[in-house]
Amino acid sequence: MAAMGTFTPSYVAGYACPACGARYALPRGLCACGQPLLVGYRLDALAAAFGREALAARESSLWRYRELLPVAPPDEASELAAGGTPLLRLARLGAMLGLPELWAKDEGLNPTGSFKARGAAVGVTALAALGVRDLCVATSDNLGPAWAAYCARAGLRLHVVISDDVPRPTLRQSSIYGAEVVVAPGGAAAAFALAEELARERGWLNISAFREPYRVEGKKTIGLELAEQRGWSLPDAIVCPTGGGVAIVGIWKAVEELAALGWLDAQRPRLIAVQSESCAPIVAAFAAGAERCGDSPYADTIARGLRVAKPLGDRLVLRALRASGGDAVAVSDAEIEAAVLDLAQLEGLFVAPEAAAALAGLRKLRGTGRVTPSERVTLLLTGSGLRRWDLLEERYPVA
Ligand SMILES: *Cc1c(COP(=O)(O)O)cnc(C)c1O
Ligand SMILES: [Zn+2]
Repeated sequence: MAAMGTFTPSYVAGYACPACGARYALPRGLCACGQPLLVGYRLDALAAAFGREALAARESSLWRYRELLPVAPPDEASELAAGGTPLLRLARLGAMLGLPELWAKDEGLNPTGSFKARGAAVGVTALAALGVRDLCVATSDNLGPAWAAYCARAGLRLHVVISDDVPRPTLRQSSIYGAEVVVAPGGAAAAFALAEELARERGWLNISAFREPYRVEGKKTIGLELAEQRGWSLPDAIVCPTGGGVAIVGIWKAVEELAALGWLDAQRPRLIAVQSESCAPIVAAFAAGAERCGDSPYADTIARGLRVAKPLGDRLVLRALRASGGDAVAVSDAEIEAAVLDLAQLEGLFVAPEAAAALAGLRKLRGTGRVTPSERVTLLLTGSGLRRWDLLEERYPVA
């Protein structure tokens, strides 16, 4: 297959299952044991052959880190450039929270308005090179539009299963890119089950979080980019709105790989997961000292992208939080709404409710002293508020 030519990046060592240790060459899905696979790189060889200074001359998109990605980039003009998002100081919010070093990474500026574009850019490129034609996923938020846009550009077919409680504009944002949208009655859990059934029956690849090892590599570039933007140093704490936890695992993978390459100073960031009180299995498992998530209640929330009842990568997420000396906290919709307005009115950033959860969580942790004034904190503002027409019309209490 001609496209396979793009699948020979020089530094991939192979794919391994952290749960059982099995190894694979070019996997399309999960390990045979049902757990996620992660790609490993020959970091010694990379460190010997490549210096981080060479990055300066590269494009600003996430493909600037191609040596640390599992697939070669599409040619530059064909790419919908994900990544290269600004790192902004939040002086007014920082003063309010007693955090002189408060910053935000504005991921809402990615194509399709969320950081899901990073995972889609790498995921679609890799799966297309593997010859996969039909992808399928259950989603209630930004995953649909992000993967639909990249699939449209690469000529892949995406089938999106959306639960019937999701507002119509959200659904249309996937179908506008040509994705087939299947509406599932019975809420988000039923949509996940239907996506699995359809994938099995029709031979589609389910690209739900951690079901293939490529998306996490795209999310990893948040950590690479943040380190490079800060002169190869990471902040004391990175606050991540968390659903399936792909960003947490990706950012921690970036920390480990950069450290192994010798590109990072001695400082290691604490990773802080923020979930919605309506569905917070990671927060519950973290507090209980558990290795895996238990059954979680599943209520509605305006932050639907954080509503993942049974994260497949739970082990990896909890391990990353603990290895980083991190934390996990849940916030209410009222706290999220207040944070949306604060970010908009104090900093000029209108973000998605999921993104605002980062600020709401930080506020809580400052209140209880779990984040201290000397800490340099970066909020991951994962998505733009502009896509949520439903909330603009009915919910936000602005004149
Ligand atoms: C999907 C999503 C999240 C959660 O991301 P994970 O990496 O899966 O935990 C957070 N914010 C936004 C805007 C999202 O779309
Ligand atoms: Zn395994």
